[in-house]
Amino acid sequence: MSSLIDIIEKDITQLQVDAIVNAANRQLMGGGGVDGAIHKAGGPEIMEECRKIGICEPGEAVITTAGQLPAKKVIHTVGPVWNGGDQQEEEQLASCYKNSLQLAVNEGFTTIAFPNISTGIYNYPKERAAETAIKTVKAFLRQNDHIDEVYFVCFDEENKRLYQELI
Ligand code: ADP
Repeated sequence: MSSLIDIIEKDITQLQVDAIVNAANRQLMGGGGVDGAIHKAGGPEIMEECRKIGICEPGEAVITTAGQLPAKKVIHTVGPVWNGGDQQEEEQLASCYKNSLQLAVNEGFTTIAFPNISTGIYNYPKERAAETAIKTVKAFLRQNDHIDEVYFVCFDEENKRLYQELI
C-alpha cells in the first residue's frame, strides 16, 4: 500500500494518530510554541519521562508517553536553531524527520504527524524548512512501506501555502 502525505491546519495536540512529533529543545524541558502546547494538553506524565531521558541532541529523536493526548505516543525531536545556514542546519533538520520516522517504524506505528520543526522560535526560513521536510519524508517513504500516513501540521497560513505549493 502506498503512503499518503497530508497537510492539515489543526492543533497537533488534538490529533488521533499513532505518534505526534514535538519540536522540543535539547534539555527536553518544555517551553513555548508547540512544545508548550503538547505538555499543557498532555499533562505532567510527559515531562516525567522527558526528565528521565535527559538530553536530546539536535537532529535526534526520543519517544515518551502521550499522557492525556489522543495520540499513542509523543516523539520529541530537537530541530536546529537557524544560524545562517552553514552550521549543518539542513542536515540536522533532515535528521529530525528521518529519526522520528524511524522511531515510529520501530514502534510498529503507521501514522505520524509533524509540526513545522524549527520554523517558530528557532527561526529556520519557512520555505527552506518545508523543502527539506518534504524531500526527507518522501525519500523515507520510498524506502519504507510501514508508514501509511504522514501529516504535516501547518499551524500558520504561510506554512500551509508553502506546503501546498511544494507537495
Ligand atoms: P521551534 O523552536 O522548533 O521553532 P516552535 O514551537 O516555536 O518550534 O514552532 C514550530 C512550529 O510549530 C511553528 O510553525 C508553530 O507555528 C507551530 N505550532 C505552534 N503551536 C502548535 C500547535 N499547537 N500545533 C501545531 N503546530 C504548532
